Amino acid sequence: MIKAFENLEVWFVTGAQLLYGGDAVVAVDGHSTEMVDGMNASGILPIKVVYKGTANSSKEVEDLMVAAEADKKCVGVITWMHTFSPAKMWIHGMQRLRKPLLHFHTQFNKEIPWETMDMDFMNLNQSAHGDREYGHILARLRKNHKTVVGYWKEEETLQHIAVWQRVCAGWADSQDMRIIRFGDQMNNVAVTDGDKVEAEMRFGYHVDYMPFSSVMKYFDQIKDEDVDALVAVYFNEYDHAPELEDKSTVEYKKIWNSAKAELTIRAVLEDTGAKAFTSNFDDLGDYNIEETGKGFDQIPGLASQRLMADGYGFGGEGDWKTAALCRTAWVMGQGLPKGTSFLEDYTIHFAGQESALLQAHMLEISPAIAAEKPKLEVHHLGIGIRKTPTARLVFTSKTGDGIATTVVDMGGRFRLIANEVKCIESKPLPSLPVASALWIPKPNFEIGAGAWIMAGGTHHTCFSYDLTAEYWEDYAEIADIEMLLINDDTTIQNFKRELKINEVYYLLNKALK
Ligand code: MN
Repeated sequence: MIKAFENLEVWFVTGAQLLYGGDAVVAVDGHSTEMVDGMNASGILPIKVVYKGTANSSKEVEDLMVAAEADKKCVGVITWMHTFSPAKMWIHGMQRLRKPLLHFHTQFNKEIPWETMDMDFMNLNQSAHGDREYGHILARLRKNHKTVVGYWKEEETLQHIAVWQRVCAGWADSQDMRIIRFGDQMNNVAVTDGDKVEAEMRFGYHVDYMPFSSVMKYFDQIKDEDVDALVAVYFNEYDHAPELEDKSTVEYKKIWNSAKAELTIRAVLEDTGAKAFTSNFDDLGDYNIEETGKGFDQIPGLASQRLMADGYGFGGEGDWKTAALCRTAWVMGQGLPKGTSFLEDYTIHFAGQESALLQAHMLEISPAIAAEKPKLEVHHLGIGIRKTPTARLVFTSKTGDGIATTVVDMGGRFRLIANEVKCIESKPLPSLPVASALWIPKPNFEIGAGAWIMAGGTHHTCFSYDLTAEYWEDYAEIADIEMLLINDDTTIQNFKRELKINEVYYLLNKALK
């Protein structure tokens, strides 16, 4: 079990009926207990599975699902039909359940006992029978869910459940996700904007604005000794030139002010219970900061980098959707090794089949994805309302497979776009000292970038090394949003067809439900 998930549970409900007599239900119960104990003992599942007994009637199913909805620890429900379970009895319960659902098509018994099998065995071990009946009602209800097929003791089977559990944790976390925006969308940017009311209905996000006059109330309460202590943490944690520690320099002052900005934003986020935030490099407080002191004297880039590593979702330039997605990815990836970050497509490196995209933001990339120990540096930053020396962490990022995701608002629905990418070694940028990553989109630059652009994808992404397409498939299924995956199987012809078919599907979807 993962420590971050230790207060969460996934419920396990076994479908049965009383047709086969009480003894059969007792056996079903015993087998289910053994299975759930085995799944928990496997070491594969990050969230504890809690067995909730057999459901033998419509009322029992409904009572269990209502209880699951009401239980704050419960982040999802697994159902399994050991025997036949007439599926009309699942209708009301499935209608009441809004939390994520997984249909586990497995069987207690692994192999057919050819010599000893009798009718009692058949009455009990009939998942092939019962799971089809149950699957029908999920299909008939158009009930969003994940189906996992495989033997319950096999690692590969349990890995699919582990993925879904992590997505359930991310989904539960997003239900009360408050996102604080320091400043609005950058002027006229379309793709980072969207319907915040629909986002609250769909994802649970509550998107708030905080003006700098309010931020300054927190700023004014930050104590100098706390800033000094944080600066000491910086020097301790990050490689840096020794002269940065000289308190008489502009660079030291910039680092000190960065630390104060970090403490200010952290105080706002803690006080408001926010899990994500956005910034806007044209909105950093009073334009006369030199005289008034009311504002941040530089983009809070270092603060954003460090807050991201601590799990706060971040989006640049008012991008609240990517900020929220980064938070969700961080939750889903708890305990996984390689990390997640906000990233931004900047510059293309054309090199045939090795053509790649340089990922950089002005500053804000999470040190969680760094390949090496980050360096603390201060350099002039020539963008935004404060063109001034600015503190930042500089590094290149890990190599290997990853996935870039975004959510865009298509008007009437949200669309999740995911692109599997191959991260390759980036090079230091001596004239552009910022954090960066470099990747080749799959299946290659031409198709990967082409499909992403045709789908209306952002120049901002939520990036993860650890999550795979399966996580985002599960996420889109739970959120009931469109999902477009760009990977080695993608062709432009098929992708264009998918875009057109999806337009029709989403027009009809509401009518079907
Ligand atoms: Mn941007």
